[in-house]
Amino acid sequence: VAAVGIEGETGDLVLGANLEFPGTDLGTTVHAEGFVSLRVRRRGRTLETLAVREAHPCAHCRQTLAEAEASDRLEIIDLLGHELTLAGLYPWSFRPAALGVPGDRPEPATWPGLAIAGEPPPADVATLLLAAGAQAHAPYSRAPSAVVLRLVDGPLVAAGCVESVAFNPTITATQAALVEVAALRAKPSDVAEGWLARTAGGAVDPAPGFRALLAAVAPSAGVHVLDWRAG
Ligand SMILES: [Zn+2]
Repeated sequence: VAAVGIEGETGDLVLGANLEFPGTDLGTTVHAEGFVSLRVRRRGRTLETLAVREAHPCAHCRQTLAEAEASDRLEIIDLLGHELTLAGLYPWSFRPAALGVPGDRPEPATWPGLAIAGEPPPADVATLLLAAGAQAHAPYSRAPSAVVLRLVDGPLVAAGCVESVAFNPTITATQAALVEVAALRAKPSDVAEGWLARTAGGAVDPAPGFRALLAAVAPSAGVHVLDWRAG
């Protein structure tokens, strides 16, 4: 399954595909529509148009898309010629405003005061963790997290968590970072080392999921869990 997004600010096309991770919970799956929205978000942009083939976004993806402040302006088009809105696909939606929270925006940084506690990771990893964590969408747990993955041939990718107002459709930082791996046309098994930074004493703990997902997709990868304070 594939999907294509058009960014509002640039008109750039962003490609997405289904990601499935054998050996983990089915809940770790990222659909193409979610992939596109995560990539656009990571690029600091707004998803303006989402193009799909014939099948329309599933209920999980509709909830993921509904988290974005810009989702009421999102146009969804398909190869059958339909031009739809998210409200048309998901009437009476459950939006962040239901819990008194503004919708997700990729900018500005929500968590600028993160500080890693204890032994710091390599400087380039720390910089990426802090940048991705600053843009994490964690208004419900107030416990931002971020993941950096190093691929076997050297590149680093990073992403923060994207929480959902409905809680369980939340995209973890690990899933979002694996989207970035796929965007480099690399495989999850190419991950050589991973770092998770989580909020010390936070209301949620992404560490078990991080360890389980990396153990399934890249069993030989080095795994590091760091704590930070949200400042
Ligand atoms: Zn879906």
